[in-house]
Amino acid sequence: MLTLTFDNRLIRELPGDPIQQNFTRQVHDCLWSAVTPTAVKQPQLLAYSHEVAAMLGLSETDMQDPSLIDALGGNGLLPGMASYATRYGGHQFGHWAGQLGDGRAIYLGELLHQGQRFELQLKGAGETPYSRSADGRAVLRSSLREFLCSEAMHHLGVPTTRALSLVTTGESVVRDMFYNGNPQFEPGAVVCRVAPSFLRFGHFELPASREEFALLKQLIGFCIERDFAQWWPTSGLVLDTQSPSPALIEAWFAEICRRTAVMVAHWMRVGFVHGVMNTDNMSILGLTIDYGPYGWIDNFDPGWTPNTTDAQGRRYCFGRQPDIARWNLERLAEALATVLPDNHGLDAGLRDFDREYISQLTRMLAEKFGLDRWQDDDGDLMNRIFELMTRAEVDQTLFFTQLAALDCQQPQVSTLKEAFYTEHGWQQFSAEIQQWLDVYAQRLHQSSLSPAQRQQRMAAANPIYVLRNYLAQEAIDLATAGDSRRLHTLLQVLRQPYTRQPGMEAFAQKRPDWARQKAGCSMLSCSS
Ligand code: AMP
Ligand code: MG
Repeated sequence: MLTLTFDNRLIRELPGDPIQQNFTRQVHDCLWSAVTPTAVKQPQLLAYSHEVAAMLGLSETDMQDPSLIDALGGNGLLPGMASYATRYGGHQFGHWAGQLGDGRAIYLGELLHQGQRFELQLKGAGETPYSRSADGRAVLRSSLREFLCSEAMHHLGVPTTRALSLVTTGESVVRDMFYNGNPQFEPGAVVCRVAPSFLRFGHFELPASREEFALLKQLIGFCIERDFAQWWPTSGLVLDTQSPSPALIEAWFAEICRRTAVMVAHWMRVGFVHGVMNTDNMSILGLTIDYGPYGWIDNFDPGWTPNTTDAQGRRYCFGRQPDIARWNLERLAEALATVLPDNHGLDAGLRDFDREYISQLTRMLAEKFGLDRWQDDDGDLMNRIFELMTRAEVDQTLFFTQLAALDCQQPQVSTLKEAFYTEHGWQQFSAEIQQWLDVYAQRLHQSSLSPAQRQQRMAAANPIYVLRNYLAQEAIDLATAGDSRRLHTLLQVLRQPYTRQPGMEAFAQKRPDWARQKAGCSMLSCSS
């Protein structure tokens, strides 16, 4: 039997639901409910992340241990584990939605390894008191997407929750993928997610909305002490965990703002669109969380949203992500303001978001374009090319990897030809892009970097391999048909997204034409 060390602080230190039965309900004055994962027919380990296993102290042999695989599929707990679901609320698509909570995520406790603490959470492990009318399950399609993307994002250097394992359940789950009266059976799966904390903005919003102020303060104190253990001593402020001081809450909020800004700037850098930036999907640690109908930018387009539910409003499209992150932080600020004398300190935190976002974005853009540093008129230069890329349908990822190959003595637009999606776009815009390249080359001449240094800088900021929507979909189709080799190849390739890998050219191409309008490749549904 595996021996792992668990120390389940959340359920030990925060108030839990006195009701033990598992039925859907409103839960008051506490933060979690005890619940056991619902056993599945036949848990099978389809894939796991070597890096996450190592981070948790699990060897390759441990990962084949039937008791661990059972636990990762929801068929039993290992010694020290505890299972529970937490209560949170949230603003969905701009509106307060009341109590949400872990409707299909069940925690397995807090694992300690080498001085670090990791919450483990099964997604798709059965109903909880927060399941409302849904079944608590997840399908292979969405689980594979979450598993692969969490790891891909980590290797890209984007703050994210991680994924240890992808387990198929041997059971079917019914989903009406496009909510159009076509329910189908799909294979079920469970992902074990890992993060230092899964607390979300919504965990704080719900007690505020219910005027559970003592509970809110207790949660804030707990979160600062456990999840911001590295940060709060640097704040120079004293922590009273039952009732943290206004100054500490405000400083902590500013830290959340800064982390959120860093996360979103990275999303813009790599071309990631979250797709459902509701406040219940925002991590308090500034980690990318809840991989649902997310998507990757192929042709650069700030108005693109992968989420079919968002196709009309485009609230969560690529270009609006920074504004929405700020809007979400404003909702968190409103919740925190209920236990503070005034809003001044929180407003300062929001301004920190603005400052940090601009500082991160300009730094990352300077790297992407291979500039030594950001100058004031660089914004105009970049906006011009982004506008041309949108109109000409140019692939974001290929554009930047090819731009690095540009000869800045004799810039030629033909260097970028591969990044154009259509002949029409090439015919119509290549002359304007050539003009832009001439200006860009002049800008490079003012830079202190040698061509080799410029290329090195660009290579570190511009991924070659990203989890394009169609690549994930191909892996899903194959895995659903029983062939998981593609999943494993992709997982392997995405481990080194900035390094060209011989034989893996197929994963560094622009989206093929057949995938332009295909479900799963350009349109994603919330149904998962
Ligand atoms: P999401 O849109 O995935 O962020 O989910 C919003 C809320 O719905 C959260 O409270 C989820 O736990 C819950 N939820 C989503 N899918 C399911 C499901 N299949 N069963 C139970 N709850 C779910
Ligand atoms: Mg969610």
